[in-house]
Amino acid sequence: MEQINLHQELKKYFGFNEFKGLQESVIKSIIANEDTFVIMPTGGGKSLCYQLPALIKEGTAIVVSPLIALMKNQVDAIRNISEHEGVAHVLNSSLNKTQVKQVKEDISNGITKLLYVAPESLTKTEYIDFLKEQNISFLAIDEAHCISEWGHDFRPEYRNLKNIIERIGDNIPIIGLTATATPKVQEDILKNLRIPNANTFKASFNRPNLYYEIRPKTDDVDSDIIKFVKKNSGKSGIIYCLSRKRVEQLAQTLQVNGVKAVPYHAGLDAKTRSKHQDMFLMEDIDVVVATIAFGMGIDKPDVRFVIHNDIPKSIESYYQETGRAGRDGGEGHCIAYYNHKDIEKLEKFMSGKPIAEQEIGHALLQDVVAFAESSISRRKYILHYFGEEFDNKTGEGGDMDDNVRYPKTKKEAKDDVQL
Ligand code: ADP
Ligand code: MG
Repeated sequence: MEQINLHQELKKYFGFNEFKGLQESVIKSIIANEDTFVIMPTGGGKSLCYQLPALIKEGTAIVVSPLIALMKNQVDAIRNISEHEGVAHVLNSSLNKTQVKQVKEDISNGITKLLYVAPESLTKTEYIDFLKEQNISFLAIDEAHCISEWGHDFRPEYRNLKNIIERIGDNIPIIGLTATATPKVQEDILKNLRIPNANTFKASFNRPNLYYEIRPKTDDVDSDIIKFVKKNSGKSGIIYCLSRKRVEQLAQTLQVNGVKAVPYHAGLDAKTRSKHQDMFLMEDIDVVVATIAFGMGIDKPDVRFVIHNDIPKSIESYYQETGRAGRDGGEGHCIAYYNHKDIEKLEKFMSGKPIAEQEIGHALLQDVVAFAESSISRRKYILHYFGEEFDNKTGEGGDMDDNVRYPKTKKEAKDDVQL
């Protein structure tokens, strides 16, 4: 193959001058038809890792992604940078016969470079039989952690992907991408996709501009939150609560105290939800009090604080949710309120679930307890959890947590976990 100038291609298709982080090495691996595994935090630029090689290579790349809305966004974006509408397509159950015919025609004619599919659509025999006959450049699996029960978003349909890929072709290179950094999930992904020798690229998960803090949860939590929010008035923030009831109640309490706040949870109708989300993005309000239903795909760069009224059910969730602060690299203050009673509540929630799920849930919670009760640097703990060693003396953001700034006494630290 003739030498490709990747920088030139990057500029031509996306208008960027430089690759971000490990993108260039990842792209070279994909272009060389090697199985590839990419672990990068949210916002790291994973999509471009498969989009650019797909545009460069001959044939069609299949992209498996769990969310229809995200697929549509990506297809629109790719169509914008190309002269041909058929360069990217989504194949899912919402298409009518004529549309499916058009998609198939564009693929057969070599026009389609990216074909986005939901995993459940890919199981259809009609599509498998068609794709078998096509020139497939590679298969990318976005949000690959959906394969693992240890991930935060397990999807049984993802488990069967490898078998389907094998029915489509023998030698199709596989690219898995995820923002989940835990070693257990990564192992699951490689095992399930049967790509033990994949070239693996893992970016650092350190977020040096985030300040991590755990506060004891007492009866004063309301006034503590109000005090903090008022001190930071005019700044954007998210407050996560476990229950819808608590969301409503806290949003009201804040409003009564003169804070521009709105509630957000799945019990509100779609219109109210999108109105509240827009108000937050447009800065008509400062604070969203929300359940975890809020956040996926929200890209507000200047969220200045994330408060957890209740401790999350895993370190992974804590990291994802606090990660919504300080995307622009500016200040991001993360406060979580912790009381061991809440852990018992979370355990109780799980009691009706299948045993295997309970065991996983319990193990994840134990790590949360250790994290919350620890006197070790929060950043060090989180990064260690993700398989990354961190030195607070030399690492960026080394003094950006409560345990480093205000060390506990020796006695308090005595029973601490050892890393
Ligand atoms: P992820 O899937 O890892 O969360 P995305 O693929 O959604 O991240 O990319 C996050 C943002 O980074 C997008 O706005 C994208 O346009 C931008 N981006 C990606 N690569 C580059 C680059 N090389 N230079 C500048 N911006 C980039
Ligand atoms: Mg992504």
